[in-house]
Amino acid sequence: MSNPAEKKPHAVLIPFPVQGHINPFFRLAKLLHLRGFHITFVHTEYNYKRLLNSSALKAFHVLPDFHYETIPDGLPLIDAAANVTQDPVSLGKSVRENSLIPFRELLSKLNDSAIAGLIPPVTGLVSDFCLTFTTKAAQELALPILLFSPVSATCLVSIMNLRDLSDKGLIPLKDESYLTNGYLDTKLDWIPGLKNFRLKDLLDYIRTTDPNHFMLNYVIDMADNVLKASAIVINTSDELESEALKALSSMLPSVYPIGPFPSFLNQSPQSHLESLGSNLWKEDTECLEWLKSKEPNSVVYVNFGSITIMAPEQLLEFAWGLANSKRPFLWIIRPDLVIGGSMILSSEFVNEISDRGLIASWCSQEQVLNHPSIGGFLTHCGWNSTTESVCAGVPMLCWPVSTDQPTNCRSICSEWGIGIEINTDVTRKEVEKNVNELILGEKGKEMRQKVMQLKKKVEEDTRSGGLSYRNLDKVIKEVLVKQT
Ligand code: UDP
Repeated sequence: MSNPAEKKPHAVLIPFPVQGHINPFFRLAKLLHLRGFHITFVHTEYNYKRLLNSSALKAFHVLPDFHYETIPDGLPLIDAAANVTQDPVSLGKSVRENSLIPFRELLSKLNDSAIAGLIPPVTGLVSDFCLTFTTKAAQELALPILLFSPVSATCLVSIMNLRDLSDKGLIPLKDESYLTNGYLDTKLDWIPGLKNFRLKDLLDYIRTTDPNHFMLNYVIDMADNVLKASAIVINTSDELESEALKALSSMLPSVYPIGPFPSFLNQSPQSHLESLGSNLWKEDTECLEWLKSKEPNSVVYVNFGSITIMAPEQLLEFAWGLANSKRPFLWIIRPDLVIGGSMILSSEFVNEISDRGLIASWCSQEQVLNHPSIGGFLTHCGWNSTTESVCAGVPMLCWPVSTDQPTNCRSICSEWGIGIEINTDVTRKEVEKNVNELILGEKGKEMRQKVMQLKKKVEEDTRSGGLSYRNLDKVIKEVLVKQT
């Protein structure tokens, strides 16, 4: 084989096919590529088409050592141009039932290409820990597999304890009254790594009375899968979650914090992958221009991520809270953010905010957060948004809705002191008050100082010689290139 790629190790990366998992996987792929890997990145057919439509893949054809492959997701076909967010539960069910066979076929195809000398042989898999079929495929082919957790170490601790909580009869809930009778305030301080956490800070799947709840059981199965892994890497750092990481180390053979990725990549040399993105929506670039016209630390950036949905009434409370705060804001409203699809923002509102508010449908969040005019982030507390905000040194207003968001919110507000929580039943008064506190108040100032300190600390972990940096090298050597 005359290909210069011959001697490269070859990693196949496969995320659970939603934006919040694709993005950190893509960053990990970039980091591995910078360390000399040939990369195969596996998308579902639907998401790949969405990527092409969003033009996040502008330059990929010319990259010999970073290529994309697809497998079907098993769901009925949808027109990718409509860019509809797939229901994560249906996706979870479908992927679990339908993906092993196409993934096996893909690995076999890659093997054939390697034998033909077209690509280097696959040396290891990097799989989302939410995908259980990949472990089976790796075992069949005797390939090393590294599991990756796109959720925080604290959330992973809680996941690893769900079976025990269920065995103790603490979950699922005995009846509906447990949702409101204070039961969810039960402390979990007896669980190592969850000292300051309560039941209500765990994945929202526990708020069920149904012992057969699909997602609750899915996550419990994921924990069993994690126990079988030879190693797991997490998009976090010791500076962020030392207690949780300590607790995980006593449960799992090899746990490596290797993040947070935004900080890691900011300090890495530029690669020829710079022009590649992973966003499934087309990014609005005008908002970056608009931000240039604003004072430093003055703008509230509002974004509820890729999956969160809200009632039209909640949207209105946020809208009028922002308008009444009189602070400038950039608000990303995904086309499918509001249940029922109608945005119902009145012309009165639009007139009211015309001199200080901008609404767009998707943006490059990292670029926005790192813009000097951003003073705070009103977020749903997805783990990527959380780490991106920390790495940009931006304090937060937190409105957690589902999945791991309550856990992240607790870390942001209580563990790190860099955020203020907003009630689930949001009111415009509360939004107005907290936005002003965040941008102008004493608490906002204090949180900004704290998040800047945290930013510096995670930069130490991710710079050459830091713990996350060393962990990445270690896990590459011990798992991904062990057999070459
Ligand atoms: N994101 C983005 N632009 C947007 C909205 C989101 O680039 O307008 C990115 C964001 O930077 C993050 C991901 O999408 O990397 C969302 O992941 P997160 O874990 O924060 O939330 P989820 O979407 O999974 O709820």
